[in-house]
Amino acid sequence: MRRISHWIDGKPWSGDTDRHGDVFDPATGQVAAHVDFAGPTEIEAAVNAARAASVGWRDASLAARTSVLFGFRELLNARKRELVDLVTAEHGKVTDDAAGEVQRAMEAVEFACGVPSLLKGGYSENVSTKVDVYSLRQPLGVVGVISPFNFPAMVPLWFVPNALACGNTVVLKPSEKDPSAANLIAELFAEAGLPDGALNVLHGDKVAVDGLLEHPDVRAISFVGSTPIARYVYETGTRHGKRVQALGGAKNHMVVLPDSDLDLAADAAVSAGFGSAGERCMAVSVVVAVDPIGDELVSRIRDRMAVLKVGAGTRPGNEMGPLVTRAHRDKVASYLDSGEASLVVDGRGHEIDGDADGFWLGPSLFDHVESGMSVYSDEIFGPVLSVVRVSSYEEAVALVNANRYGNGTAIFTNDGGAARRFQHEVEIGMVGVNVPIPVPVGYYSFGGWKDSLFGDTHAYGPDGIHFFTRTKVVTSRWLDPSHGGVNLGFPRNV
Ligand code: NAD
Repeated sequence: MRRISHWIDGKPWSGDTDRHGDVFDPATGQVAAHVDFAGPTEIEAAVNAARAASVGWRDASLAARTSVLFGFRELLNARKRELVDLVTAEHGKVTDDAAGEVQRAMEAVEFACGVPSLLKGGYSENVSTKVDVYSLRQPLGVVGVISPFNFPAMVPLWFVPNALACGNTVVLKPSEKDPSAANLIAELFAEAGLPDGALNVLHGDKVAVDGLLEHPDVRAISFVGSTPIARYVYETGTRHGKRVQALGGAKNHMVVLPDSDLDLAADAAVSAGFGSAGERCMAVSVVVAVDPIGDELVSRIRDRMAVLKVGAGTRPGNEMGPLVTRAHRDKVASYLDSGEASLVVDGRGHEIDGDADGFWLGPSLFDHVESGMSVYSDEIFGPVLSVVRVSSYEEAVALVNANRYGNGTAIFTNDGGAARRFQHEVEIGMVGVNVPIPVPVGYYSFGGWKDSLFGDTHAYGPDGIHFFTRTKVVTSRWLDPSHGGVNLGFPRNV
């Protein structure tokens, strides 16, 4: 059986392990590899390597750091197909979708290549007589990045390039369900000239996460995953004195106003609802149909769902792959038996182009869903779309704002005034206007509100630079030799 192990101090970990997890090929249901689970020895080795590397890396010039980042960008571009194939093999998403993930990851790398201009401080000359003030941004030290299964390449690359660009060293703990992408990323960074120990990959489960959260040498944690774990990571990490940003789950609503182009809206709902089998934190999971278009919109969504090609992600033409594990597939399918709302499309009957043992579930649609139902309140994280019918724009906004999650939302309309009002009133971190998956480009920042994010800063972009640095303000005076004298009063600027 293929073994996937940690990457520590610039090389694969060769030590023994007493705990490991299964990594599946979700399209066949077979175990494809074993991944080592870190215990105290490996956690200590990874953090020690990062701490030792921090001494040199924090003092590496901006020219040296950006040279590594540009080199990594070039290697990633040249070998992106390898990364895409690893994502499809372990996550299950179709190749074209995995290629989109890697492309968006590249944006975050390119942003980090511009770090010299992002780290510029301020300078004020002569704030008091012959006194100058300037500000600096300095690295934190060793930082931990903990990522979810659904974007095994992109989410690590939301954080790792910015963290390194700012002069930090990193211990990355990827999802144990699809761990290989992280190792390839570490290998490419090493090839690009990153010093040993500056980026380490620690595989595992809660033991590894807790090890990072409690380790006194880890200064900050960037986490992405489900809301209960995000809350736990935030509370535990901050209790241990760390800076923490913890991005959580979502329930994203797409509001369709009666004046919208219904074909465009139906295309968007199906694309954003079932892309990556609904395993995206920015997936649309609730369509809010404002009267009187409900029947017509549901009919157009059903037509599109019926012809979706579901099957192995490696097979050209397939549009939706399997779910990540059998347990997750079964949990998602259990909602179809809830009987709470009208199940107008049951994905269990969908034709599958793939091995019978794969973790398959076709696209499903509930209509006449209401806010008290579990299919509405739970983050299902699978190919299950709910339609809620409301009578007015005001009712739609009230529904979105009352939801505990605040990651993404979209409005579909041809009325600019309504769209403008929506983006102003809605209590959600990322908003699309006739755009169903409004993931910000790499030079903005990504993050939700409410239970979708614990902490103050969003991920990547300018917020990423703020998160991975702390500021220092220097007040300096170069005295003329004749000046001096004791003065016990509080310094005044004159
Ligand atoms: P998860 O919370 O199960 O796991 C995330 C990470 O936490 C993994 O590395 C995992 O090993 C670790 N972990 C799991 N259980 C733990 C525990 N009890 N204690 C400590 N660590 C633990 O999430 P997932 O299933 O891998 O990913 C899907 C979730 O991530 C969804 O809820 C999705 O909405 C969310 N997500 C959010 C965003 C965002 O930007 N807000 C982006 C992607 C995914």
